[in-house]
Amino acid sequence: MIAPASIPAAGRTTRAERLAQPTTREAVRAVAENHGACLRPVQLRRTNTRTGEVDQVLIPCGATLADICPPCAERAKNLRAAQCREGWHLDTEPIPPAPPPDEVQAMWVERRAQAQAERDRAAQAGEDTTGLDELIADLDTEIRRSGLRGNADPGQTRPRRQRSTRRRQDAPDLPKRKISPHTIGKTYAAPDGKTFRPSMFLTLTCPSYGKVGEDGIPVDPDSYDYQRAARDALHFAALFDRFIQNLRRVLGHDVQYFATIEPQKRLAPHVHIAIRGTVSRAELRQIIAATYHQVWWPSTDTVRFDGDDLPIWHEPSARYLDPETGELLTDWDDALDAIGPHDEPMYVARFGVRFNAQGVLAGSKDAGRCIGYLTKYLTKQLGDCHHPNTGPQHDHVDRLVEALRFEPCSPTCANWLRYGIQPKNPRPGLVPGACKGKAHRREHLGYAGRRVLVSRKWSGKTLADHRSDRKAWLTEMLGLPATDPANYRWETVQPGDEDYLPPARRLMHAVADRLYWEQALAEARRRARDVLADELSATGRAA
Ligand SMILES: [Zn+2]
Ligand SMILES: [Zn+2]
Repeated sequence: MIAPASIPAAGRTTRAERLAQPTTREAVRAVAENHGACLRPVQLRRTNTRTGEVDQVLIPCGATLADICPPCAERAKNLRAAQCREGWHLDTEPIPPAPPPDEVQAMWVERRAQAQAERDRAAQAGEDTTGLDELIADLDTEIRRSGLRGNADPGQTRPRRQRSTRRRQDAPDLPKRKISPHTIGKTYAAPDGKTFRPSMFLTLTCPSYGKVGEDGIPVDPDSYDYQRAARDALHFAALFDRFIQNLRRVLGHDVQYFATIEPQKRLAPHVHIAIRGTVSRAELRQIIAATYHQVWWPSTDTVRFDGDDLPIWHEPSARYLDPETGELLTDWDDALDAIGPHDEPMYVARFGVRFNAQGVLAGSKDAGRCIGYLTKYLTKQLGDCHHPNTGPQHDHVDRLVEALRFEPCSPTCANWLRYGIQPKNPRPGLVPGACKGKAHRREHLGYAGRRVLVSRKWSGKTLADHRSDRKAWLTEMLGLPATDPANYRWETVQPGDEDYLPPARRLMHAVADRLYWEQALAEARRRARDVLADELSATGRAA
């Protein structure tokens, strides 16, 4: 039985009851979200330069984080899933080998070669090369125009200063094979003659920093190695890079990957990798054990400046100096040069020995599930993937952020001042412990790199290519005329403009646009089904 008090008197509602009802604006927002309409559309004015016709176009904000715009973030995630799916099981090379130059291209290249030889002869003889340099620049333009990429003489500018330590990475203990340019995995034949081409789903983690419980909280926070946790997160992308190099070396071909980086509950980054082709568990174990990244940075063992006693910016030299002695701090390049052949790297990052690997067949249920894993957290910042609910979880985040506070995040990090070294490209206002670098921030947990790492020959397409694939499919199915972008001029509409739409009205337009596109999409799908049905009945008749 309903308590009488909860029945509102007819025709009258209390203030509390009225406030409990959603506002219309909230409802518009909810409807927009349901239909996948962008919540913060950008207004553009489009002018047809031939007819002078002007119309308003709302384009999605394109945010990738759900915090900012859930529908756009969801779309971005789906696009990544499509990209992952498309490249994973390819059976033909996505980027065919380049054809030999045609006659026109060859002609320009020959002339370019002659001009170069002539110029270098003139330079050697101490003659003026201005005219020949101009000719070479013109020929380079012609070569580009003829459709060739890159530069015939890439080494012509900036002689690089060679520094041995910066690139010194000891060779891993792995068999070395010459890498062939193919990117497709092996094909296997079943006894019944069917062939299949398995690919892999692999997860790599960081090593242990101390025992953690189910909730990812260290059992003994005092002995948990937060410094290593911080450093591994900072250098995780470089370590991943080494792993791919070693994988390619061992497998002997140009292995392709689609990888996403996200935190585990203990807040250490791990990487999920879709790999085209397979690799045995034994080989994987060997590669992971042999993979490391040496950080050749100056030592941070001794704190030179702390508290209020900090280096001072010296405007005339554009450098920091020691507040007591007035001497300039060591320059970044000099500090690197001072690392001798017998010194140890500042840090060596490695993966944990534990990994997860499984073979995945094209189009299988497993493939779909793995793509779900790969893209699961892409709409969130690293620090928001696992919400700290309890006190100990909060404390764990705090301790990691504190460990990251004074770790140098990059050669330009303000923290170098703490260890008595000018950061690379020094600028005024740097304070150790307050570096603005992304890696130090709570939402990034030490990893400031890209969340999705895709190799160049994964699908042979950029995200924009994948996006326009979908659009092209829709316009083709609906038989819409393709609009020629050359005929339009686009401008952003500013708040003071006469045709400016305030956010609330923009949102309604965005909803209306989506409703229109949903109908169009349904219509396109119906037509695609009809086409398929026609084709099937045609083949049926032919048989
Ligand atoms: Zn949006
Ligand atoms: Zn920093």
